[in-house]
Amino acid sequence: MTEGFNTRAIHAGQTPDKTTGSIIPPLYQTTTFAQDGIGKLRNGYEYGRGTNPTRDALQEQLAALEGGSHAFSFASGLAAEDALIRAVLAPGDHIVMGNDVYGGTYRLITRVLSAWGITSSVVDFADNDAVAAAITDNNTKMLWLETPSNPMMKISDVAAASRLAKENDVLLVVDNTFASPYLQQPISLGADVVVHSTTKYIGGHSDASGGAVVVNDAGLAEKVGFVQFAVGAVSAPMEAWLTTRGLKTLGVRMDRHSSNAMAIAKWLQGQPSVERVYYPGLPEHPGHELAAQQMKAFGGMVSVTFKGGETDARSVAESTRVFTLAESLGGIESLMNYPSEMTHASVKGTELEVPTNLVRLSVGIEDIEDLLADLKQALATL
Ligand SMILES: *Cc1c(COP(=O)(O)O)cnc(C)c1O
Repeated sequence: MTEGFNTRAIHAGQTPDKTTGSIIPPLYQTTTFAQDGIGKLRNGYEYGRGTNPTRDALQEQLAALEGGSHAFSFASGLAAEDALIRAVLAPGDHIVMGNDVYGGTYRLITRVLSAWGITSSVVDFADNDAVAAAITDNNTKMLWLETPSNPMMKISDVAAASRLAKENDVLLVVDNTFASPYLQQPISLGADVVVHSTTKYIGGHSDASGGAVVVNDAGLAEKVGFVQFAVGAVSAPMEAWLTTRGLKTLGVRMDRHSSNAMAIAKWLQGQPSVERVYYPGLPEHPGHELAAQQMKAFGGMVSVTFKGGETDARSVAESTRVFTLAESLGGIESLMNYPSEMTHASVKGTELEVPTNLVRLSVGIEDIEDLLADLKQALATL
């Protein structure tokens, strides 16, 4: 029987050190490994870009939690995405991506990889017919889906996208950063590949950048592993070690992120200055039923638009005291973001543009009373 999520989070890849019994596997802060004769490697370790025990431990933990056969850890989420795309696509291949994928993903595909012959279309993944229509017979090789999406919190059906992907013989990639493997398991819903910015919920403490690619197929694993080694955007030992430490508490953190976010979403809904709250946990959210099916809870991200337009949104974003105005998300501390000028400035004027009256909250795990009081005083400035 597979052990439960939290047991795997704490023990997968985390066997106590053989030499000393150190309960925490050591941080192997090294670039190279002594050989016992030419080509006689100790347990296969040779050079840090290729393999490092600390990174291996994280990769084992990630694979165990996403239900994949192999995981690869990178220096950032975008480094992971770049490695994946270059590992499995070739010039002339076409990607169909959601119309609210992470702005950096859109930028990577349309402004970096396009120069290497990768083409792409942007569609609404909530509309299956639109996705099917965007798949071309000859060169579409990949569907790229993000759910919940950023910052509009749209929910897409992973199982339905996986059926489309299989019918058309293309790979389905799911960016699972917002949900984390605790709340959503795309591989079990039929995805071929899961990508993460581990910088966010997986690391969880805003102190280590990283990314991951998780697959459930030996052939795909070989390709991604080769690019990880040959291109070299690997996670550094310290970053891998911190990410492993963060990941052990993912379950308890996500439960609290989710309950805090739900309380905040409900409270915001009742405020006269609020135009609309975007949170899949609210019954009014168009993706609520689907989210309830494919997610364990609804996560820590809440977006909200204000009736008073850009002025009000900016004012709230700049008035909070417990919520800190900053990019990024998924840490234990609450963050406030004004996407249009911050995280999503790069997609201004594109089909991914974000409303200027919207703020995005990354709800942390502080006491809910303090978070609500902070928002109350910020909205009182309007
Ligand atoms: C942050 C983020 C990324 C990119 O990850 P980095 O670690 O910043 O490179 C990709 N996808 C989503 C959904 C993200 O939030």
